[in-house]
Amino acid sequence: MFKPPYSAPQQHGLQIRIRSGGHDYEGLSYVAEVPFVILDLLYLRNITVDIENRSAWVQAGATLGELYYMISRKSKTLGFPAGVCVTVCTGGHFSGGGYGFLMRKYGLASDNIIDAHIIDVNGNLLDRKAMGEDLFWAIRGGGGASFGVIVAWKVKLVPVPSTVTVFNVKRTLEENATEMIQKWQLVANKLDNRIFIRMDIARVKSSEKYGKLTIEASFVSMFLGGVEELLPLMQESFPELGLDRKDCSETSWVGSTVFTNGVLIGSTGHEDPEVALLNRTQIRAGKYKGKSDYVSKPIPLDGLEGLWRLLSDEEIEYVQLQFAPYGGIMDEISESETPFSHRSGYIFHIHYLVCWHEKGEEAEQRHMNWTRKLYKYMEPYASKSPRAAYLNYRDLDIGVNNEGYTNYTQASTWGVKYFKNNFKRLAMVKTKVDPHNLFRNEQSIPTLSDEEQYYLETI
Ligand SMILES: Cc1cc2nc3c(=O)[nH]c(=O)nc-3n(C[C@H](O)[C@H](O)[C@H](O)COP(=O)(O)OP(=O)(O)OC[C@H]3O[C@@H](n4cnc5c(N)ncnc54)[C@H](O)[C@@H]3O)c2cc1C
Repeated sequence: MFKPPYSAPQQHGLQIRIRSGGHDYEGLSYVAEVPFVILDLLYLRNITVDIENRSAWVQAGATLGELYYMISRKSKTLGFPAGVCVTVCTGGHFSGGGYGFLMRKYGLASDNIIDAHIIDVNGNLLDRKAMGEDLFWAIRGGGGASFGVIVAWKVKLVPVPSTVTVFNVKRTLEENATEMIQKWQLVANKLDNRIFIRMDIARVKSSEKYGKLTIEASFVSMFLGGVEELLPLMQESFPELGLDRKDCSETSWVGSTVFTNGVLIGSTGHEDPEVALLNRTQIRAGKYKGKSDYVSKPIPLDGLEGLWRLLSDEEIEYVQLQFAPYGGIMDEISESETPFSHRSGYIFHIHYLVCWHEKGEEAEQRHMNWTRKLYKYMEPYASKSPRAAYLNYRDLDIGVNNEGYTNYTQASTWGVKYFKNNFKRLAMVKTKVDPHNLFRNEQSIPTLSDEEQYYLETI
């Protein structure tokens, strides 16, 4: 059995950082301002797929690509709803939510977890029954790193048809992208829940205007069915896109995971699944800053036009806004079912990503400041009180804990943005399972004082 070495770090006052895939946006799994040790789960990669019971056990250090590949080796008609980037690991991803192209049909990865193994603060290995429903609730969206070391998850596999259809249709401003973006905002969350169309907006060189910069929207999609069924559905709901048969490719569900990962890494997306999904090398070589927003009403035309002006800033190397449609089953799951509270009422989620390769402090500050300017610009269009954020796109700008003790009110500055009212229950669970706050970082759930606990129990 894996027994974590908690006592030595405790004796020497070191923080414990837990790393599975190392994709944390702020590097909290492997960077700290204070002395720390890393518990690296890189080699816990075992995956056992049980087709008869439509489930799988997957260890924390296994990548999403490895999970998708192992499922596909056993079945062409089962899949799992999780993220797009195949080098992300299940340890961090499932514990923070985890969404991908099956979200509108089946929800998040964390909505499809049926058991887990965690090593608690006392070094005991606990399954769902032994940890109890409160802790099992907390680690499905509340982030594992506040509660213990997650060793493995048992997940429910979901039915997928043997043929799915994918496309990536790109339109620039000169090709009426603005009109399509406006229409996407009205329909993407209302489409048949088998269709997921993500809209990626970025600045590119225009092919029509001799290399001049323009804005391009990519409509990246996966449909759970064949092209014959997809075309009339799209013609009826989103004719402005002008989707044509030649834009579409039929493939298997696992083929669609290769395709969508290919859009992310800039490959053809038609590679052999074994090669594409089992490669564990992370693709982003440069630096990046990510942020997130949730939106309930379409961004009006003047808001979009202002955004195009902002994105035209050539001082910034690369910026992309990924719009992920909500609706479907996300409207049906209650806000308190798991700690992930961002459910009905939102029409889409925005992921902001700014990347640069330029070296030096000045370049870093310029890109960081510009990212914050973009986030400020988007404020009128985003959710309010709180301005909701996604834990898996961790952002320390929204608030951090103190180096020493952090009270519940202070931690709420960032906590309610990630979890809304679920933050209170997370703090209660944390206090019960880790009363001395062994598992802590810049955004770990706080341990409550007796007074805080009494107060929260009575309101
Ligand atoms: C290129 C890229 C693409 C992405 N695409 C998507 C996407 O499509 N959909 C989506 O939802 N998200 C996406 N993400 C975000 C991703 O889900 C999160 O960064 C996720 O937390 C990464 O998990 P990890 O195990 O790889 O990272 P890590 O850095 O190892 O972990 C992230 C956090 O979880 C904690 N943690 C990790 N393992 C454990 C464990 N075993 N027990 C307890 N705590 C643990 C860490 O301490 C850290 O706080 C993407 C990120 C990147 C960098």
